[in-house]
Amino acid sequence: MSAATVTRIITPLMQQGVLVQTDRLAKNREQRGKPAYLLDVVGSHAEFAGFKVTGDHVFGVLTDLSGLSIGQIDTPIVHRSPDAVADTIADMVGVLRREHPVSGVGVSIGGQVSPEGVVLRSGILSWTNVDLRQLVEARLPAPVTVSNDVGAFAQAESWWGQARRYHSFVLVTMGAGLGCRIVVDGVVQEGAHGWAGSIGHVPIAATGPVCEMGHVGCLRAFASTEGILSSLRLRTGSESTFPEFLRQAALGASPQVDIARDAARAVGRVVGIVAAIVDPDAVIVSGEGVGVVEIERRAFDEEVARSRHWMSGTETVHVQEIDFYAWARGAAAVAVDEWTRRLE
Ligand SMILES: [Zn+2]
Repeated sequence: MSAATVTRIITPLMQQGVLVQTDRLAKNREQRGKPAYLLDVVGSHAEFAGFKVTGDHVFGVLTDLSGLSIGQIDTPIVHRSPDAVADTIADMVGVLRREHPVSGVGVSIGGQVSPEGVVLRSGILSWTNVDLRQLVEARLPAPVTVSNDVGAFAQAESWWGQARRYHSFVLVTMGAGLGCRIVVDGVVQEGAHGWAGSIGHVPIAATGPVCEMGHVGCLRAFASTEGILSSLRLRTGSESTFPEFLRQAALGASPQVDIARDAARAVGRVVGIVAAIVDPDAVIVSGEGVGVVEIERRAFDEEVARSRHWMSGTETVHVQEIDFYAWARGAAAVAVDEWTRRLE
């Protein structure tokens, strides 16, 4: 980008108080011309509401421009109809907002979402072709974005998370589903049809557990929370919750520890293959199901190393546990992104 283009973009942002010039000189600046000073975002300039829609709850956060969480709330989903969920989100904005109206509302959901915010397919609420953006926007005096949850989370990681120091990273999420996004120079790669990072049903082994689609040995069968609990049910004949499964696996109980090891290996296989293809600065493994990798980290690391070229450099692997509010913060990041485009 030329200096003239940068000046054209940042001048209105500085006039509106979104950006301020610091007294720190930029590194690697060209020797000729005026010295370049670093800019900072004024976090308190505007506020955004972000929501993560799950199968039974909507989680919401209020953030400022710098991603600082100012408030959070969750509401159970009583009726799964699109209108009822849109009502819930609109009500939650009313509870979250402070004295000023929010500058944007972001909603994220697992599944395929069009660039226009239409939920094309989401297994979580059994929705197809739901224009959720239009439904929520009709209820609120603020612009609304609707996006895939993993892509939104990757955006927040890129701006506000530990990934902000990397040029490129791969995000892999574990939970009810398995997700992946590749981010290069701050741009989340969504794919030609919005399916980038659909790693859930990648075949891992010729034998093994079976997913709900009937695939033998796919990643989802090995490492989704339901896949793990289903394996446990088959082996023990009894029901368990995921936190209880993790507690038993951490204590070394059998078969929990074996199931956790298989799950960690399956995710490690995919992480190693993606790293071999992308050669990123870092891989971030995250989500509410990441506990199995924390417990069986050695098995995971071995599998990552096995899948990657033996001569390749070693990217940094971060394993981080997150809650649903972190997902909601991802939706807020997409709302911020949309807001900055409107300023241009
Ligand atoms: Zn499958």
